[in-house]
Order: sequence, then structure tokens, then C-alpha cells
Amino acid sequence: MNDVYAAHHLIDGEWIPVTGDTFESHSTSDGSVLARAPIADADMVDRAVKAARRAFDETDWKDRRAAERANVLLELGRRLDDAAEDISRLVSAEMGKPYRLTLEREVRGAADKFRYFAGAARAIEGEVTGASPAHILDISVPNPVGVCALIIPWNDPVDLAVRKLGAALAAGCTAVVKPSEETPASTEALMRLFDGVPGLPDGVVNVVHGPGDPTGAALVAHPDVDKVSFTGSTATGRKIMASAAATLKRVSLECGGKAPCLVFPDADMEKALDALSWGAFLYGGQSCTAATRIIVHTDVYDEFLDAFKARAEALPVGDPLELTTLIGPLVSERQVERVRRLLDTVEEDGGTFLTGGTIDGLYVTPTIITDIAPDSRVASQEVFGPVVCFFRAEDEDHAIALANGVRYGLGASVWTTNVNRALRLTRRLEAGDVWVNTHYVRQSETPFGGWKESGLGRELGMAGMREYIAFKRIAFDTSEQFHLKAWWNSLEG
Ligand code: NAD
Repeated sequence: MNDVYAAHHLIDGEWIPVTGDTFESHSTSDGSVLARAPIADADMVDRAVKAARRAFDETDWKDRRAAERANVLLELGRRLDDAAEDISRLVSAEMGKPYRLTLEREVRGAADKFRYFAGAARAIEGEVTGASPAHILDISVPNPVGVCALIIPWNDPVDLAVRKLGAALAAGCTAVVKPSEETPASTEALMRLFDGVPGLPDGVVNVVHGPGDPTGAALVAHPDVDKVSFTGSTATGRKIMASAAATLKRVSLECGGKAPCLVFPDADMEKALDALSWGAFLYGGQSCTAATRIIVHTDVYDEFLDAFKARAEALPVGDPLELTTLIGPLVSERQVERVRRLLDTVEEDGGTFLTGGTIDGLYVTPTIITDIAPDSRVASQEVFGPVVCFFRAEDEDHAIALANGVRYGLGASVWTTNVNRALRLTRRLEAGDVWVNTHYVRQSETPFGGWKESGLGRELGMAGMREYIAFKRIAFDTSEQFHLKAWWNSLEG
């Protein structure tokens, strides 16, 4: 990629010419400058929010038949499918995810989410209570929540934007998107697909580029924003919740994870080894549900660990744009430094590198750590790199204590062919997304989200749709007398 991609703010249907301070993203493939993007200050953020506010208050977007909003989403799904290969090449170069995974899992998956939310728009329902006396009609009516700030990280820059935008638009909301400062080109390539979509008023979708401070912080604090939907680290999620509290905004937070994977002697070992070696290292470990803590029953611990190490060392690592690459580089030097800081704690905290632990440019070798305390830094904090810690469990209770012993609760998996054990363990795991005998199974229809410090609220499925809906209860009284006066008059004395 030789040409530097220019990213822009999108406000009220206009791509704003770049002026003022800018920042750059780099190709993970060859290190060259990949994109240059402007930094939105508080004034630019204000312009974007006001455009979204006007589109919400003054256009008929929220008042139309849902089928019309669904048509907009179906068109976006078609456009994304048509552009999937070009966008995937850009995403792979900018954030380092191998091309095939980007194309089939992220970008085509995102096109499917546009189609899912087109259907969901037409299935939004309210309620009528059947408990009222005959003269009362008591209904609960769905309304869009209003102007939404959608804040995106870099690890799935297209998919994570679409799951928020799809639900927001289906509900009749308007939006200001803030892409990650690591991947401005990837999200902009997606947002360019919105140009000229029939039936989409200007200002319904806006974009502001820039870092968390000042751009993201100004967006979250803006009094005209009604809801914030954020995906990113737990530390940032905490700041966003605190800032949103000032005006009591609705908040959804999809934050970090430290997924435990519990392996028992009765598991299908070949399948578990395939799934967990991929689950640990795919996307260079830059996934919030990566298999980062593998907890193996003591009876099979040694043989499982040996076989896992052989798999880890055989994974094809390489350039993200090569079709044979399964494990690519990390997104940026900044992310490599975060990983390096945690790897530097391993030996100090008593751990051993069974394999890996080395860094070359943006590449971290798939790393297995043993003999490490469960509450050590590398075993309890999110690394967001290809690093897995192994633990030996004596029995189910011990495995659950290890699994639930961190502050995160996002993904988890259980490996056993004993259905009673699977049921017992899935009930006890503190996580929003629990897999049995698999890892990384996801669908547009199923809700996803965290427990504990992994987040609040859900994305995808109808639960994700409801995050963008405010229910208004309306009561009609068809009787001729005001009920309180009728009651007062009925009292004796
Ligand atoms: P991050 O928290 O550094 O940044 C995420 C986004 O928030 C970026 O757009 C950033 O600019 C913005 N931001 C930063 N500070 C802000 C502030 N004060 N106010 C408003 N916005 C602000 O996260 P990251 O490094 O980009 O992404 C990796 C993290 O995302 C990991 O922790 C990962 O687990 C998490 N993640 C979670 C999920 C999930 O669904 N739970 C999915 C993907 C990634």
C-alpha cells in the first residue's frame, strides 16, 4: 500500500476537508504510513452531535415504518458484501488480522449483522397488560433512545461498528461514531458505504476521528448525547461510566476479558487442543474472548500441555496479507509495549515460559506460561496478545475457583463429554458467554456481553436491539369519572 489513505469527519452528510491537527495509522505489513486522520476537538464533536440531534428531532427517520429503515440496512449489507475484499485488505493491513479471517469472519459477518438488524427492526414489539380493569388500556410503547455515541476499538473495526450501528438505526436512533485511533481507515472505509443510501437522511450517521482525549471524552460528556455504547478496555469503560453519570446517559459497555477454559479427562482431547490453541492465539490474542487461562484437570494436565505446546509452535505466523497466515502481528508498537510490560513481570512473579515470550517488531511468538500464581499480573490482567497461562485443577470446585477468581467475566469454555458436569459447570461460571466443547461460536442472533468488570448491557440479538429502545408506558382510562375521585366518594364518613 503506497498511497496514504485520508480519513475525514462526516457531519450532516458532508465529508469535512482535513484541517488542523492530524494523526497517523501504520501498515502492520510493511510499517509505512497507512492513513492520516484529523483530530476532532470539542467544537467539531459539538457540530457532529448537533447534526445527529437535528436528524433525530427534525427528520422523519424515527417516525417511519420500520420496513423503510430495514431497507436502508439491507442496502448497507449489500454494499458491504460487494466491497468486502477491498475493505478486508485494508483492515488486515491496518490492524494485522490475517486476510482470510478478516474477510470471512469479520467483514462478511458484519454484512450479515446489517441484514439481521433489518429483520430485527420489523420485530420490535411493545406490550399491553392483560391485568387492567376493562375501562383501562395500559400499553408500553417502544421509542428510539435518541442520539447515540458509538465508540469503537481497533480489534474488529468494521464488525464492532456495525453491531452498534445496525441496532441503533433499526431502532430509529441517530449516531456519532468514534473509530479507534489505531484504525481510522478501516472504519472510514465502512462509513463511506453510507454515502447516498436511498432513504437515509443526512445527519443520521456522523463520524468524528481522534483519540480518547479530547475526542472520545468530549463526545461522552456532550449533554445532547442520550446513550453511549462503548467497546474497549475496562479502564476506559470505567471513565466513560463516570463521565456519563453527570447527565445520567444510558450506557452499554463491552469491555475486557480473561477467558477461562476448563478441560476434564473425559473431553475430546483432539478437538480441545485444536480449539484452544486457535482460541488462544488467533487474532494474535487480540480478542476479548481469547482463551487466555487454560485450566486442566491434574490427571491429564501434563499430556495436554505437551500436545498444546506442539500445536502452538506449529501455527503459521506471518504477514497478515498472505493467504496462508493464521497468526499475524499485533496492531501497533503501542500494543506491543503493553504486552512487553506484562511479559516482563512473568519471571518476577514466579512464572516459566514453556514456549514463546519473544518479540520481533510487531510479532509476539505464541507464548505459554506455566507455574504462575492465578493472581499474578500476567494471569489476572488482560494481555491482549498471544499469551496463555496454564493451571492445574484438582477437581471441579478447584477449577471453578480458578476460573471465577478474576475481575473479568466475558467468555469461558468447558471441555467434557459428561453432560451433567457440563451443566453443573456452565451454571457456576461467572461469564456472559459460555461455550461447551467449542470456542468462538458467534451468531448475529445471540446476545453477547459481559459480567463483572467485563461490561454492562448486551449487543446482538433482540437483547442488543432493546439497548437502543426506551419504553414509554401509556394508560388510557375510558370511564366517565376520575378514578381517585370515584374512590374518595365511595368512602364512608
Ligand atoms: P481502549 O479502551 O483503549 O479504546 C477503545 C475506544 O475508546 C477507542 O476508540 C478510544 O479512542 C476510546 N477512548 C479512550 N479513552 C476514552 C475516553 N476517556 N472517553 C471516550 N472514549 C475513549 O481499547 P482498545 O485498546 O482500543 O481495544 C482493546 C480493548 O477492547 C480490550 O480491552 C478488549 O478486551 C476490548 N474489547 C471488548 C470487546 C467486547 O465485546 N467485550 C470486544 C472487542 C474489544
